[in-house]
Amino acid sequence: MPVRLTKTVGEYLLGLGALQHIDKILPDGSQRTVYLIDHFFSDGVLLARLPVRHGDSVFYVDTRAEPTIEQVDEITTQIRTTVPTGAIVGIGGGSTMDIAKAVSNLLTNGGAAADYQGWDLVKIPGTFKVGVPTISGTGAEASRTCVMINNARNLKLGMNSDHTVFDRLVLDPELSASVPRQQYFFTGMDTYIHCMESLAGRYRQPFADALSRQALAMCREIFSSESMQSIENREKLMVASFLGGSAIGNSILGLVHPFSAGLSMVLHTHHCLANCIVLDALDEFYPREVEEFRRMQDSQRVELPRGLCRGLREAQYQSLYDATIVHSKPLANALGEEFRSILTFDKVTEIFRRM
Ligand code: NAD
Ligand code: ZN
Repeated sequence: MPVRLTKTVGEYLLGLGALQHIDKILPDGSQRTVYLIDHFFSDGVLLARLPVRHGDSVFYVDTRAEPTIEQVDEITTQIRTTVPTGAIVGIGGGSTMDIAKAVSNLLTNGGAAADYQGWDLVKIPGTFKVGVPTISGTGAEASRTCVMINNARNLKLGMNSDHTVFDRLVLDPELSASVPRQQYFFTGMDTYIHCMESLAGRYRQPFADALSRQALAMCREIFSSESMQSIENREKLMVASFLGGSAIGNSILGLVHPFSAGLSMVLHTHHCLANCIVLDALDEFYPREVEEFRRMQDSQRVELPRGLCRGLREAQYQSLYDATIVHSKPLANALGEEFRSILTFDKVTEIFRRM
């Protein structure tokens, strides 16, 4: 892996009740704070606990579908039309984290979300940004990207940049108490999958390896335990997700994420559920991990949907193949530079048919 200056989230509040201290980590000054909050919290109960001042703004973010460049542009436009913004606070899951990070970059850099999809295209720091995860696993709170769907280009890609990293985080396990059981498992498994993919790869980095090993060990404890959603386990998963997310920027993923991106682009399956469905179909490549995944799934009594890719049209299999094989970096990390000779169209289609 190339040697480069590495940025991680440097400051965070962690622990039960951390949210009540959020006012201490917001910038002083007269500029307003903009809160972007997952729509699940639109009943106002959470809002009442925030230090919202006169002039601040609150937007509820619709996360029924994964973030698109259009959604990010629309929210940015609404924020740009009014007074200057001193801080963006994103409160929610991976989708809301990513929207908050993207909006923050756009407010200072100008232009549209699609202009910055790629590597190191963001020129100057975004508006001061604070992340408050309410569900754990994607690591979006710690990573240097913010994933957005670009339908016109048939791709899912983020603004990979040091400027995308949150300035501060509030990690309060009280906030994930209301997450539905299945969602908790699927999103939590994203940490397991990121870490096992990167540890199984050819291109490695010692810092990422260390973080991944620790996060994996924590996932094993959480998802083999009697009550994966106890307060102790929710706090542990918040930390594991943070460690896994800090590893992502310094590691390369493997086979699961490219296939999962295919499912998301063609069948609109959400990222974390798609990852679990894909991992379950990849036992010939990851036998030990798939066995372990199924054990954790059984102990938590979580079911996966079946038959997702059976009986699709030929053109859909072609789109699935195209949206998978385009991710050459992680595929080469898993299988070597000659990955196309293993992942032929027929092989990829056979794997999708198993899902
Ligand atoms: P999410 O943000 O899409 O939310 C999933 C569901 O959980 C939503 O319905 C939301 O309303 C609900 N929810 C969130 N918090 C809740 C709570 N406390 N109680 C009840 N319901 C709650 O979920 P996610 O799985 O965290 O994120 C997926 C997104 O993250 C995808 O868009 C994916 O592309 C992105 N992602 C980003 C990175 C990154 O590094 N930036 C990494 C992996 C995934
Ligand atoms: Zn992921």
